[in-house]
Amino acid sequence: MYNVVIIGSGCAGLTAAIYAARANLRPLVIDGHEPGGQLSLTTHVENFPGFPEGIMGPELIENMRKQAQKFGAEFKAGAVTEVDLTSRPFKITVSNDVYMAKTLIVAAGASARMIGLESERHLLGHGVSTCATCDGFFFRGKPIAVVGGGDSAMEEANFLTRYASKVYLIHRRREFRASKIMIERAKANPKVEFITPAVVEEILSPAKGSVEGVRLRNPENNDAVELAVEGVFVAIGHDPNTTVFRGKLETDSNGYLIAKHGSLTSIPGVFVAGDVQDHRYRQAITAAGSGCMAAIDAEKFLEEHKG
Ligand code: NAP
Repeated sequence: MYNVVIIGSGCAGLTAAIYAARANLRPLVIDGHEPGGQLSLTTHVENFPGFPEGIMGPELIENMRKQAQKFGAEFKAGAVTEVDLTSRPFKITVSNDVYMAKTLIVAAGASARMIGLESERHLLGHGVSTCATCDGFFFRGKPIAVVGGGDSAMEEANFLTRYASKVYLIHRRREFRASKIMIERAKANPKVEFITPAVVEEILSPAKGSVEGVRLRNPENNDAVELAVEGVFVAIGHDPNTTVFRGKLETDSNGYLIAKHGSLTSIPGVFVAGDVQDHRYRQAITAAGSGCMAAIDAEKFLEEHKG
């Protein structure tokens, strides 16, 4: 039986673990299928307060983990396969193991959708990024590509013109999912050039360890072209990791969990934090902040339900 079980070991989960452990609650953190979350997939982080020279994402996350362990947080590898939230204590299943929790913090995160290329996986954090706010600064004066046709792609393309010399907006169809105003804004930007319809077939060149271009194919006539860019921003959406909570916790139409009054959910004793409930800010610092809120809410809940 645990006072607090935290699902997810990204910025939100680990911050919740630090706060809960410091409150002597001996939380259990279940790592999830992407231990360390999205920070573990990035390289240099320059906008997390307190690190004027920046810090590598994996190092930042490792420091948070050590900090939580120092105060007594326990960690288990594996991803949650089932949750029973019908009564307290809650029942959390991780493959063959079952944990009972007086309170639960869901910080399972959201995963950026990827195109699915081996070269993309290889160059992630080395010229391929899923976060313009995080990484745009590294591409000052360089030509880059943004992939996607939704509001995120339009917004990121516009935002990245602050840094990049040129932004190619690459989308697989001629029609866009993005709202009209966002498309118009991007089209009016002289630094943005739309290339449609175009499918990214390869990101060049994994062997060199950096991005030198993209190979595109026109799906209508199969023509292939190579485009010289030094960065690729994949902006094709995110999927919140909420499959096991479907029908058990309230979600919005995109599957994100809904937080009320901070980190509360419709089930007393269940709290949410980080990207699993946030498709707007998606920053390490906002995830950390909401992890702190969830731990404080869990602590207060335990205090109010003593015995
Ligand atoms: P989205 O609306 O789901 O759009 C994803 C885009 O990526 C689509 O154009 C889709 O193409 C494309 N795509 C998906 N899988 C792909 C693949 N494997 N290869 C190539 N392209 C692929 O996602 P989003 O843009 O992240 O937006 C998510 C939600 O947040 C939306 O409701 C959006 O309105 C909202 N949002 C709002 C703002 C704002 O208002 N400021 C900013 C960002 C996001 P197809 O169209 O061909 O399927």
